[in-house]
Amino acid sequence: MTKKARVIIMRCDDYDADLISRIVSDGMRHLDVRPQGRVLIKPNTVIAHPRLFPHAFTRKEFLEGVIMAINAISGLVSGSTSGSTSGPISGPISGPTSRLITELAVGERCGITIPTRFAFKHAGYGPVLRRHRVKTYYFEETAQVPVAVSRQMMTHRDHVMVPKPVADCEFFINLPKFKAHPWTRLTLGLKNYIGIQDDRYRLIDHNQFLEHKIADLQQVIQPKFIAIDAISAGQRMMLTPTPFPMGAIVMGTNACAVDAVGCHMVNVDPVEIPHIRFASERGIGPIDLADIAVEGDFPLSEIQEKNRTFEFYLKHIDHSFGSNANLQCTVGTFPEKYSPDYCWGGCPGALQEAVHILKAYSPDVLHRMGKIRYVVGNVAGPLDVAPDETVLFVGDCTRWRGKIDGMPVHIKSTYGRQKKRNNHRPPSNDMLLKNMKTIANCMANRRKRVIRVPGCPVSVADHVHYLSFFGGVTNPNFDRRMVVDVNMQYMKMTAGRIKNRLFQD
Ligand code: SF4
Repeated sequence: MTKKARVIIMRCDDYDADLISRIVSDGMRHLDVRPQGRVLIKPNTVIAHPRLFPHAFTRKEFLEGVIMAINAISGLVSGSTSGSTSGPISGPISGPTSRLITELAVGERCGITIPTRFAFKHAGYGPVLRRHRVKTYYFEETAQVPVAVSRQMMTHRDHVMVPKPVADCEFFINLPKFKAHPWTRLTLGLKNYIGIQDDRYRLIDHNQFLEHKIADLQQVIQPKFIAIDAISAGQRMMLTPTPFPMGAIVMGTNACAVDAVGCHMVNVDPVEIPHIRFASERGIGPIDLADIAVEGDFPLSEIQEKNRTFEFYLKHIDHSFGSNANLQCTVGTFPEKYSPDYCWGGCPGALQEAVHILKAYSPDVLHRMGKIRYVVGNVAGPLDVAPDETVLFVGDCTRWRGKIDGMPVHIKSTYGRQKKRNNHRPPSNDMLLKNMKTIANCMANRRKRVIRVPGCPVSVADHVHYLSFFGGVTNPNFDRRMVVDVNMQYMKMTAGRIKNRLFQD
């Protein structure tokens, strides 16, 4: 009989590093997890800030608890079994590891183009990493190397680019944050892999192929341990989630099994989430509960009941903002047969995240801003545009022909260039250059009624620029709580890149 993949759900209501360490070291022992060699921990810090984005990232106490557990398990610290939670986890308890950890590091590439140094600083990781002498890899500052992915597994590309520390690591530990996601419904372990790519590569296929891309990335490296921070989970959005006290830590060694159990925890069938289904179809692991042994002191049925009110946000943008809002969306059809009625992985989701960022600054922004008509996809027929509406045609795939103010307008699709793009050397996605380019496009079109917004996808940060500029509202990209430090960290990032290029690459 084939051995079932094991997933452990443990109760944990507090961000107490000692408690987390005890729970995680117990979990590692029972799963027979023995970190050794080059160990790389990947948290989720897509964005982090204690006041502006407090619920979006793997908490520092969680990271510290896991580091302490690794040290205890590997014998670097006399953690042994003292303070064991002795929860109802069945299975073997292993002896000491036979090989030493040669490097313990934490690595990440955060989101929306800002430097990962900014996210780590505002997640409070610095003191934790210094206290435990853990090495830091900011993935955008390291060399990027190609890793082949197998065509036999029906992947979208034949290779992907990843930071060298990911390619070199021998023991990958995945520490996602349990969150809902407006593009993929949930972000757990598999989705956390988006952060193993630098922005230049991360946005390749971050469109209708996002779910394929997530499954492709699993071929780069399989995690040898996964621990999900579900102590306080995030609902609805991924950058600006509302907290949900889930009170759990989920652990396992198989990416699909852990994500499948995570889905069931919030009453979702994992088959309905394409990237989890794709990864399983490619042989990464099981997603059927019949093939998974769910253990721990927090029964799945109890957590499902507790999570009945957990909220998702899976709305099409033309039904997202209300008929009275000054932002109205017209959605057409999309180029890929895989999902012709909507582009879940690209511009529409980025618009939703951008709107939630604007609302975090000003809750009534959708009624205060100037009127914007947002048009995306292949749209047929006339646009019923109000006289004072600015029309944004967003994304490379967008196409429309008609009249606005009695003048002919012909928007041509440029979709497809990205597919042919050399995956080794895509254009730079440098934060300053990107911002300058976007602002220049806004300025050049400031008196126009019809604006073409290129990109596939158009990023969240760009959406914030365009909505702020043409809606005439404060641009959060220039918030003084962010802008000074983002630029300071950008300079450090640039220096880090140069240093690595000169001395390490
Ligand atoms: S341009 Fe935007 S909406 Fe169109 S396919 Fe690309 S990401 Fe999707």
